[in-house]
Amino acid sequence: MIKKIIILGGGVSGLACAYFLPKHIEKIIFESEEKPGGLLYHPRGFAVTRSQDLYQLCLELGLESEMVFSADAAKRRFVWMDGALHAFPGVIGTPWSFALFKMLMSEWKKPVVSSEETIDQFARRRCGEKIASTLFDAMAVGVFGGDSQALSCNASFPSLKNAELKYGSLTKAFFKKRRGKDRGLFSLKGGAERLAHVLAERLGESLRLGERVLRVEKKEGVVHTQKGTYEADLVISALPVQALRSLFDLKHVEIPHRTVYAICCTYDKQIRLPQGFGYIVPRQQKSPILGVSFDTQIFPDSLKTQFTIMTEGSISKAIACVEKHLGIPSPDYIRISKGNIPQYTLGHEERICRLQAEIPEVPLLGNYLRDVSVNGCVRQAKELVSHLFHGK
Ligand SMILES: Cc1cc2nc3c(=O)[nH]c(=O)nc-3n(C[C@H](O)[C@H](O)[C@H](O)COP(=O)(O)OP(=O)(O)OC[C@H]3O[C@@H](n4cnc5c(N)ncnc54)[C@H](O)[C@@H]3O)c2cc1C
Repeated sequence: MIKKIIILGGGVSGLACAYFLPKHIEKIIFESEEKPGGLLYHPRGFAVTRSQDLYQLCLELGLESEMVFSADAAKRRFVWMDGALHAFPGVIGTPWSFALFKMLMSEWKKPVVSSEETIDQFARRRCGEKIASTLFDAMAVGVFGGDSQALSCNASFPSLKNAELKYGSLTKAFFKKRRGKDRGLFSLKGGAERLAHVLAERLGESLRLGERVLRVEKKEGVVHTQKGTYEADLVISALPVQALRSLFDLKHVEIPHRTVYAICCTYDKQIRLPQGFGYIVPRQQKSPILGVSFDTQIFPDSLKTQFTIMTEGSISKAIACVEKHLGIPSPDYIRISKGNIPQYTLGHEERICRLQAEIPEVPLLGNYLRDVSVNGCVRQAKELVSHLFHGK
């Protein structure tokens, strides 16, 4: 019987898992940094979707009064193409309007393919080359900072593949699927890291900040940290996959990632930005940036203007590029953070199964498994606890 659990890593995956554990379970969470939350710690504070698991968790934690919801304008998104911003998905007046119209006429007649494909292969087959290289590429960049020709459609956007399998076509799925009201996005006053702080408060002394895990004897459930040696009935990993691989010496399975810089640009006054969430630049445009989110358009602020640029390359080139795109002056302040985004490339599902099979004693959690979003991390943590304690 499980009485004591050690969780490795105090990002949102580890904190949420610890929170969901039954009250009678003794727990310790080791986090190497002095602050909880891992990638949640971001100068912008994430605009997270109003997805159910995260929303429910914030309500349970009594954060209702601290929730901030996105402005209606944030429902508009743009793609940068051929020197201009175009509304996404943009049926009229965009470089891809004709292709989109053609797709609507024929996509529903295309045969269903159940085997694994890249996002690009899936999109080309169903929607044609133009839509694949613009809209689907923009989606891959927007969510994973990734390459639609390398990412698996099945693993990265399972809902697309499932829609094809269930309805026979994306167009049919679009019309048949019941859509609730689009409730937009939410964040928390003080940024999404507030979630980490509140979870940390709830966990109290169980959360050991600034205590790096150095070695794990997985069969024995013994964990060695900088400060001591601890024993538990079960060890759960909520580490980033690179840390997991080196800690457990897992040489056979590699989950690729991209290192993305988020450059948060702030102005002490109001700067005119397009009304919308922000824009993505498809990879074929060969730009120094991946995209920009207009943070103070999403969550309006009357005193300042803020946007966040995502880039994989030079910071100065990225800022200069956005200044040129939008015709705006240089920001008053910038803050830069760096994070790895896992890439669910072809064969991802099988790779994840092999990874877990290499250390069957240690259940895995984290954004490299099946969902990179904060909501996905919370959902996976909830599902693991439910599986361990209720057999679901
Ligand atoms: C630039 C960027 C923008 C993003 N934007 C959004 C967004 O708008 N919306 C959204 O939903 N998601 C977004 N995400 C994704 C999301 O933030 C992450 O996927 C999620 O926060 C990952 O949580 P995690 O707990 O799985 O991993 P992490 O946050 O990486 O947590 C792992 C923790 O383990 C700790 N650790 C590592 N090694 C050790 C060790 N040896 N001992 C102890 N502790 C250790 C680390 O310090 C870290 O705190 C973004 C990601 C990036 C990089």
